[in-house]
Amino acid sequence: MAKILDGKAAAAEVRSEVASEVAKLKERGVPVRLDVILVGQDPASVTYVSSKERDSQEVGIESRVHRFPSEVSQQELATLVETLNEDVAVSGFFIQLPLPEGLDPVSLISRITPAKDVDGLSPESAGRLAVGLPSLLPCTPHGIIQLLGRNGIELSGSEAVVIGRSNLVGKPLAQLLLRENATVTVCHSRTRDLPEVARRADLLVVAAGQKEMVGAEHVKEGAVVVDVGIHRGEEGGLVGDVRFDEVEPKAAWISPVPGGVGPMTRAMLLHNAVRAARMQAEAPKRG
Ligand code: NAD
Repeated sequence: MAKILDGKAAAAEVRSEVASEVAKLKERGVPVRLDVILVGQDPASVTYVSSKERDSQEVGIESRVHRFPSEVSQQELATLVETLNEDVAVSGFFIQLPLPEGLDPVSLISRITPAKDVDGLSPESAGRLAVGLPSLLPCTPHGIIQLLGRNGIELSGSEAVVIGRSNLVGKPLAQLLLRENATVTVCHSRTRDLPEVARRADLLVVAAGQKEMVGAEHVKEGAVVVDVGIHRGEEGGLVGDVRFDEVEPKAAWISPVPGGVGPMTRAMLLHNAVRAARMQAEAPKRG
């Protein structure tokens, strides 16, 4: 029977570390503020933004939401990005995705200054990660590394297989696993014989966005399995990319859905906001 990678517990640890860091910064006269750009009324985005606001308030981070109708122009958003980059009161900010059709997220994200890029998704942040320069790390992959580390799972020298090559999860996770000295294989929709490749893994991370796609045939006895997927299940609850009941007896560790990677993603956003505030407080002043 596998041990559970409890994301709720690890996220609570991260939040409490963030809260004490926020308090210390406040004592030094450095408030932490996290801003969000929200465009349109997509119900999932509206819900995510309010939960991120709630999370921030809980740890003493001030949050501001810049709301726009779907018809807002690219230029107006680009101007706001520049304003937030320059505003010394803003520690970090992000654009809630997806943006409505007609707006180009990549060009907007590319304008976010790396020091405030709390989602860690700008090309510059991604490049800094790839070449080993300090940067704010994308929340989901960083949350996975934290979840593993906080459970004492050693990555150095291990065979890690990541299923999925998105800019949001798969690619940055591969970079972080390399940094941890794992041997990394990245699989995707064109991978030939996925079960065979996946069975090599000491650590198997599944971020394919395909409901319950991974089963016992993909998993080596004693592997660590991290499930990133989030889907609505038949009975209304959430399920992942992994068939939990089938994989759990084979794995040494497994992350559940819900309660695994999701809470860590949320906690790492707060971690990034506080790290951004600290970096800006410590950076030499321009002038
Ligand atoms: P995406 O759709 O951008 O990328 C999916 C990747 O999986 C692609 O690279 C694709 O090549 C690969 N893939 C698709 N089908 C495959 C198959 N049959 N075999 C092998 N590879 C396949 O998705 P994403 O943004 O990386 O998200 C992945 C999943 O993780 C989604 O379910 C998403 O909702 C979830 N997610 C969860 C969190 C969280 O905090 N828990 C955060 C981000 C994403």
